[in-house]
Amino acid sequence: MIQYISTRGNQERKNAAQAIIQGIAMDKGLFVPDCLPVLGQDISQLIGKKYADIAYEVLSKYLGGFTKEEIHDAINKAYDEKFESEEIVPLVEKEGVFFLELYHGKTAAFKDVALSILPHLLTTALKKEKENRKVVILTATSGDTGKAALEGFADVENTEIIVFYPSYGVSEIQKRQMVTQKGQNTHVIALKGNFDDAQNGVKKIFNDRPFNESLHNEGFMLSSANSINVGRLIPQIVYYVYAYVKLLEKGRIKKDGKINIVVPTGNFGNILAAYYACQMGVPVNQFICASNRNKVLTDFINTGIYNINREFHVTNSPSMDILISSNLERLLFHISGGQTSVIKSLMEKLEKEKKYELPEYMKEKMRIFTGGYADDKSTLKTIKELYQKGAYLIDTHTAVGYNVYLKYRRETQDDTPTVIASTASPYKFTNSVIAAIAPEKQGSEFQLIEKLQQATGSRIPKALADLDKKEILHHAVIEKDQMMSQIKEVLLKK
Ligand SMILES: *Cc1c(COP(=O)(O)O)cnc(C)c1O
Repeated sequence: MIQYISTRGNQERKNAAQAIIQGIAMDKGLFVPDCLPVLGQDISQLIGKKYADIAYEVLSKYLGGFTKEEIHDAINKAYDEKFESEEIVPLVEKEGVFFLELYHGKTAAFKDVALSILPHLLTTALKKEKENRKVVILTATSGDTGKAALEGFADVENTEIIVFYPSYGVSEIQKRQMVTQKGQNTHVIALKGNFDDAQNGVKKIFNDRPFNESLHNEGFMLSSANSINVGRLIPQIVYYVYAYVKLLEKGRIKKDGKINIVVPTGNFGNILAAYYACQMGVPVNQFICASNRNKVLTDFINTGIYNINREFHVTNSPSMDILISSNLERLLFHISGGQTSVIKSLMEKLEKEKKYELPEYMKEKMRIFTGGYADDKSTLKTIKELYQKGAYLIDTHTAVGYNVYLKYRRETQDDTPTVIASTASPYKFTNSVIAAIAPEKQGSEFQLIEKLQQATGSRIPKALADLDKKEILHHAVIEKDQMMSQIKEVLLKK
C-alpha cells in the first residue's frame, strides 16, 4: 500500500489518512508518496468518463487504506451543484490553445476544486484513525486559499478553521469574501505583513512542539489546508488527467500524443499536480511555469539557483506574490531520486543563506520545465488582446500564464497542443480586468463587477454577486508576532 514519507528523511512513514490529518512532517519536510502511482490502464480507456469517474481513478491510487465507498462518497459530496458548470472544469479552446477553466466552484478560483473535497477526505481520515481531538485547520492565504478553505470547512463537524491573510496584498474582493464568511467554526485574521510572513508564521507554528503539545492537552490538533497538505494536492492531479482525456475525446490529440501544460504559479502546488499527472501517465512535452514580477521560479528554472534575496512586489496577480514556493521541495525530492539528505541540506541553505544551487544532475532533470514571467503591464495587455481577438475574458493570473506561453511559442515554434490552467474568474480581479479592457469605467471594485458584466455580457459568478451587501463578521488585525497568542485566544473561547 502507498505510504507517505517526509522529503527531509526522518523515519516517519504514514498512511494516506495520517498524512492528511498531520499536514506536514515532524522534521519540517513535506509528505510525498514513497512511490509515485501510475494510472495502471491506458489513458484512452477513460474516454467518455465523467469528472467524478476520472477523480476516482486518480484518487484511489493515492488514498491507500480508504475504501472504495469512502472515496466515492467524498467525490460525490464535493463535485455537485456547488460547481456552476456540470463538467466541473470545462476545457475551452480559444486562439488555438485550451483554457482549462478551474474556477467554477464556490469562490471562483481553482482552489475550490481541491478544497471542496479535502474536508470530506479529512473527516473520513479522522474516523479511520479514531482521532478524537478537534482538528484546527491553520491556513495562510495569498487571497484565494483562505476563502476556498473557509467555504470547504465552514460548520464541518469536529473542525475549527483559522485563516491568516496579509492585510496588504489581497484584492478588495478577496478580502470581502473572507471577512463575510459565515460558520460557527470560522476565524479570519488579517496579519500586518505579506504572504511569506503569513506562510512562514504558520509553518513555524506547525513545528513548535511545546505549542502543539499544549494544544493537544486542550483537545486540539493542528492541520493544514494549504498545498503543503497532500490532501490538497492529490485532487488537483485529477483535472490534468481529465483535460488530457477531453483532448483525446475531441480528437485534438492522437493516442499517446504529448501536450504542454502552462500553469500560473505561486506556491508551486498546481504545477506539481501537473507533474504528478505526468508521472501517472499523461504524456507531457513541457511544463511551462509562469510567474509575475516575483520571478524567483523563472530565474530558478533558467539557472538552477533559487535566490530569495530580492525585493518582494505586490502585483495585479496577488495570488502569485510569493517568494518561497513550498511545493518545489516535493519536486526536488522526486528529481533527486528521493535523496532526502540532499533536500534537507538545500532547504537548510535556503533558511540560512536565502539561496541554494542545484547539483548538476538535478539541473538536467529540470529540463522539462520552462520558466517565464510577465509584469503587470504586459498582463493587462494580454487580457485586452485576447478579449479583442478571441472575445474571451481571462483573469490576471491566467493572463500571466497565457503571456508567458505566447512568448514561449514565438521563441521555440513549438506547436504541441497546449493546456493553460485558468485559475480564477475574471470577476475575481475586476479592477485589473476592467483596467485592461475598459479603462474609462470608474467606480468601486464592487460597482465595477456590474460594469464588467455590462461591458462583456459574461456571467457574474454566484460567489461574487452581492458581496458588498454581506455583513462583515471578522475584524481582527494582528502583528506578525501575535499569531500564536491569537490562535490560543480563538480556541480557548471554544
Ligand atoms: C493560488 C493561485 C495561484 C497559484 O497556485 P499555486 O498552486 O500556489 O502555484 C494562481 N492563480 C490563482 C488565481 C490562485 O488562487
